[in-house]
Amino acid sequence: MVHAYNLLLYPRIFRLMRLSQFHLATVKEVPADAEVASHKLMLRAGMIRKLASGLYTWSPLGLRVLRKVENVVREEMNRAGAIEILMPSVQPRELWEETGRWEKFGNQLLKIKDRKEQDFCYGPTHEEVITDFARNELKSYKQLPLNFFQIQTKFRDEIRPRFGVMRAREFLMKDAYSFHLTHESLAETYKVMYDAYSRIFTRLGLTFRAVDADTGAIGGSASNEFQVLADSGEDAIAFSDGSSYAANIELAEARAPTGERPAPSADLIRVPTPTQRSIDEVSAALGVSPAQCIKTIIVRGREGLVALCVRGDHELNEVKAAHLPELPDESELASEEEIIAAIGTRPGFIGPVGLPESIPVIVDRNAAMLADFVCGGNQDGTHYTGANWQRDARIDRVVDLRKVVEGDASPDGHGTLHLARGIEVGHIFQLGQKYAEAMGANVLDDQGKLATMYMGCYGIGVSRIVAAAIEQRHDDAGMIWTDAMAPWRVAVCVINPKNSPEVSEAAESLYRELSQAGIETVLDDRGLRAGSMFADMELIGIPHRVVVSERGLAAGTLEYRQRTETEARAITRDDLLALLA
Ligand code: ATP
Ligand code: MG
Ligand code: MG
Ligand code: MG
Repeated sequence: MVHAYNLLLYPRIFRLMRLSQFHLATVKEVPADAEVASHKLMLRAGMIRKLASGLYTWSPLGLRVLRKVENVVREEMNRAGAIEILMPSVQPRELWEETGRWEKFGNQLLKIKDRKEQDFCYGPTHEEVITDFARNELKSYKQLPLNFFQIQTKFRDEIRPRFGVMRAREFLMKDAYSFHLTHESLAETYKVMYDAYSRIFTRLGLTFRAVDADTGAIGGSASNEFQVLADSGEDAIAFSDGSSYAANIELAEARAPTGERPAPSADLIRVPTPTQRSIDEVSAALGVSPAQCIKTIIVRGREGLVALCVRGDHELNEVKAAHLPELPDESELASEEEIIAAIGTRPGFIGPVGLPESIPVIVDRNAAMLADFVCGGNQDGTHYTGANWQRDARIDRVVDLRKVVEGDASPDGHGTLHLARGIEVGHIFQLGQKYAEAMGANVLDDQGKLATMYMGCYGIGVSRIVAAAIEQRHDDAGMIWTDAMAPWRVAVCVINPKNSPEVSEAAESLYRELSQAGIETVLDDRGLRAGSMFADMELIGIPHRVVVSERGLAAGTLEYRQRTETEARAITRDDLLALLA
């Protein structure tokens, strides 16, 4: 009642969203370390500003987009029956000792001390905290199943933060954790989450694939990653066009039928002298498609520089190799001694190229970074440890891509296999009893007996989605947002507002009308030259642009252009409203 009464007393007031009073700060130049389109565009549009490596401030513009994503995620989580909570980001060591992850999590865990010299970490994830919460709160099977979620800042001390918010150190994650009496109940909620994730990424207008993933060191029985398809993706996935088969490359390799591929040859192939180390060059040398080069490795062996695809298990015993000619600046590459020192491996692991034991310098798929990484055979959790030879340790995985070949008939007997690069935007796990068991999270079952709960966990990289969406939808002029993620759906651009009160007035009244119709609109009243104004609106990817000018007013029309169209056209106010409704 109070609410309705207030509405009567205070009619809706629109605060005009004027760009002249908003902090829009686009820039022309971006730092050279911005390699991928989304990173460059986010910097140019002023959506993010770097504070330090892997740490970014979200500007008012960036935050609008981030909140759009957050809201879609929140709505769908609520709709799927999950309940929102908020846990601290700083977590005590003791909890992490209970699961053994204080040590096992590795260097991604940022450890901090308080004034009493007590150990804490900045949460990279929240299994420990939520399991502690659950063991204190949940006593009876009657309270189950429950699914808690939060949208919160995580910190992971990534070895190589890059691509802006795509692989940041501090980032925004939606993480959910479900609790169950039985495995069947867990499987049910897992399916509900799988469907909710599919709805979220569909609503956001992303082209994605849900792929089977390895449960790895986190344990448990089932796992799916949600991968946004993009050439710049750090991951690779394999999927069939004739069935539901879809797996990330690691799992596809692990599941690939054995014995069908020719034995690896130690013979090295000569390649012509290249002008630069592009991924195409390496893939051509190896005789694999660029998509397969994701875990390509470059080794400096005794016989020179060689590109490899290496099998991803402990033995690292299957290698596809090709010589790469030396370039003059390759003095920058690591020597065998440096590699050994950097990754703490033994000399035998950096064997001459072509020998089965060859352990490699891992090369990133990006040409510019071709010789950036080295990788050793020491396993750390789910990953192989390695090092950027210049600086610190590097974690990576290696996969024998000869086992998963584009165009193959596939693994389940239907359709043709495709390989694609992906950006991991979501990841769901059936954890089973691993954490509940380690931390003693029990409830009484219907017989009055203590039962260890089953758990699921479900993550979404909220901030990474913003970058992933840009990777998928942009052109030379800038970003191309879907309505769901756009900072505003419509930009009303005013030509010479200072010179003509009528134009100003017409633009403001159009703004009001659109806003009243529930269409999120921004008024570009900065008084910039038309060209600069349009360039900004294209750069920040506003889906619909309307221009109010003296000329248009005289003709009784507006100029309208959709971001994806090349030409602007004249349109009446009524037609515009109908079009945007
Ligand atoms: P990646 O393989 O990219 O390192 P992950 O498998 O370590 O990701 P999860 O532990 O599955 O990540 O976390 C859930 C989600 O959080 C991921 O699917 C991803 O979208 C997001 N995420 C993970 N690390 C980062 C990061 N450094 N920056 C931004 N988002 C991240
Ligand atoms: Mg990671
Ligand atoms: Mg991953
Ligand atoms: Mg993951």
